This record gives sequence, structure tokens and C-alpha cells, in this order.
Amino acid sequence: MEIRSGETIRFGSCYCRAVSFRVTGQPLRVGICHCADCRKTSGSAFSAYAVWPASALEQTGQVSTYGNRSFCVTCGSRVTYVSDDEAEIMLGNLDMVPSDLTPQYELWTVRRESWLHPLPDAQQFEHDRDAVAEPEPPETEQPERIRTLDTVVPRSSELVRPA
Ligand SMILES: [Zn+2]
Ligand SMILES: [Zn+2]
Repeated sequence: MEIRSGETIRFGSCYCRAVSFRVTGQPLRVGICHCADCRKTSGSAFSAYAVWPASALEQTGQVSTYGNRSFCVTCGSRVTYVSDDEAEIMLGNLDMVPSDLTPQYELWTVRRESWLHPLPDAQQFEHDRDAVAEPEPPETEQPERIRTLDTVVPRSSELVRPA
């Protein structure tokens, strides 16, 4: 972390460090989410992230993207999630550990693992921050093939068990 002309600059990278980025200034918000998408895309029980204006992000290195989420083409680490005007960074991608960022809210607490407890000072939401809950995808839905730059990831039903 650097402080240049009053603005905090945080550096981040993927696991193999081929992709690196920096975000300038303070995040708009910091949160934790237990939703189905966050579980799948992180491979963990929840995700912890911070959101900056998209203009605060500068990034180098080759990434592939799926549903606005970008990941390193070499090591597969998630890097950033850039929407129209915001850039979401997973706290685990920041280089300085521990980060100085503390979640202000928790989303999708109905999906929180029973062994996790609410963060004492974080606002709690059963679903998204908006009162309207998004419908969950049907259990049988299969993801479409994911095309990266040079490989095609098969549907899970096509995967072969190792001998
Ligand atoms: Zn990488
Ligand atoms: Zn989520």
C-alpha cells in the first residue's frame, strides 16, 4: 500500500503474479457474500470483496473473462469483476496481508454456513442489499461451456473421473 498525494494506492495480483493491478483511493464499500454465485466462483464458502469506481482500477497481464469476472489465463485465479461503473476486487487478491479493509455488510446470510457467525459490526442482509430477492437458478441447470483463450472447459457431466 502506498499513499501518494493523499490517495491510498493498493496493489494486487493473481496467484502466479502474471496479472497485477492497483486501485487508487478508498473503496466505495466492503462486503461479504454467501450467495450461490460467490460460492461457485470463489470455490470457498463465501467471498470477501471491496468495490471501487471502475476508474480507480489499472490492470496489466492477460486475463480471460466469464460473466464480467476476469481470471488469470495461467493460474486461474480470480482477479477483478468489472461492471459498467464499478470494479469489485476480492480481498484475497490484494498483496498486503492482512488488508486494512473491514466488511460493512453481509449478503445472503440465509446461505451462510452454520459454523460461521455474523460479523458483529456488519449490516446483515438475508439476500441482496435490495429488498427484492433474486430467484435462485434451478438445481438442474448446467453451466454453458466456458471458452477461455485456448481451452474449452467441459461441462461437469463430461468430466472423467481419474482412474
Ligand atoms: Zn496468474
Ligand atoms: Zn454473492
